[in-house]
Amino acid sequence: MNEVIQPNRAALEDALAQGRWNYLIDDIVAGRCQDPRTGRPVTLDLDRVVIAPTLDGAEADLVAGLGFGAPLGLVADEATMEAMGRRIERALQRHRPKPIVLDLPHADQPTVAALAERLDGCEAAIAVGSGTINDLTKAACAHLGLPYCVFGTAASMNGYTSSTASISLSSGLKTTLASRAPRAFFADIAVAASAPGRTAAAGFGDCMARPVAQIDWWLSHRLFGTDYHQITYDIEAADEAALNARAAGVAQGESDAVGRLYRVLTLCGLGFAFTGTSHHGSMGEHQISHYIDCFAGERHPGTLHGEQVGVASLTMARLQQRILAQEQPPRVRPTRFDEESMRRRMGPEIAAQCLTAYRRKALDEKGAEKLDARLRAIWPELRRECARFAIQPEEMHRLLRAADAPTTAGELGLPVDFYREAILHCREMRDRFSMLDVADDAGLLADFAQEER
Ligand SMILES: [Zn+2]
Repeated sequence: MNEVIQPNRAALEDALAQGRWNYLIDDIVAGRCQDPRTGRPVTLDLDRVVIAPTLDGAEADLVAGLGFGAPLGLVADEATMEAMGRRIERALQRHRPKPIVLDLPHADQPTVAALAERLDGCEAAIAVGSGTINDLTKAACAHLGLPYCVFGTAASMNGYTSSTASISLSSGLKTTLASRAPRAFFADIAVAASAPGRTAAAGFGDCMARPVAQIDWWLSHRLFGTDYHQITYDIEAADEAALNARAAGVAQGESDAVGRLYRVLTLCGLGFAFTGTSHHGSMGEHQISHYIDCFAGERHPGTLHGEQVGVASLTMARLQQRILAQEQPPRVRPTRFDEESMRRRMGPEIAAQCLTAYRRKALDEKGAEKLDARLRAIWPELRRECARFAIQPEEMHRLLRAADAPTTAGELGLPVDFYREAILHCREMRDRFSMLDVADDAGLLADFAQEER
């Protein structure tokens, strides 16, 4: 029978005390949960998720259940091959594994094409790694029509189970390619706990997107009537609270904290199944990170996605707090386009693509009037509603610090003037409406950005 999910802290702690790391996740993956809005069971195109203290010795059984043929492409980089790849290779001899070890790979189109060539002749693939390895394998397998599964080596981001791959085009624009979700995601907590500390700190930073993305998404819903799904937050609320109470454990690589981090990342990723979109975990804060990845060029410090998202989430939390603290709503004006500046910063090709997205949400004279009226009508309610979702910036800062995650552009190693540019201009890249849009159309964003460090 399908049930509406009502996870709570006590049930979660009970399950984890019994070592049931897949509590709730199993129900969602098996289609035993119902979307309260539609009353329909939620279905996923992924068969299995297993989070366990260790998967050492279980690899063959886990993969056998997927019905993959042979040979099997085993995709890793040098570090992840050492961390877990060799072990999997030995365990899967029956599948005639073909190790494909990538040298400091980037998630870009030429690398996807080269990987697809090396996977040619394989019946399926196994990704052993985290963000980049998973995205590359996902995209190459989608191209070849091959099934794949992923063994995560770090709790560094929430994209393991997603059906899209984040890949840079030759223009430099990072894009979300529709691909296919892995057939299974296997997370070995011990491997992630001994991965470099900054990977778990990055995963924790990615989780900080929740409160700010929720406010942005709710804002868009209340102002324009766009979709909003509370269920994506309900399924992870108990886990998030328990994780945040263990932020220091993330920094210390405690397996309990890292396991819980994997759960929050996984539940956020599975939220996609309820909505078909990533809005619940990717709004203004991810736009800032996205701008950094697309346009920092030589200035990019090589930071991880989640490290950038953590810093950007803190920026968004401050912006949202500042605007929502006002008794009176901001007064918006029609959106001003500076196409020349966009072309200069982005190059003509990307600027043209971004303008198409930007125009979809830009306010004209009438749109600004309408939005102003709507803001005036619901402002006191809206402030109360958003307050329920928020983590105050001071608290978010404390949590990031405790997890040993960066909190400023300076700590990321990013030039501060470029970070301010990202805050001010990232909204040009996507049609998702966030507090960045309200702030900029109200003439408040430039001053705010100047204060961010
Ligand atoms: Zn993210």
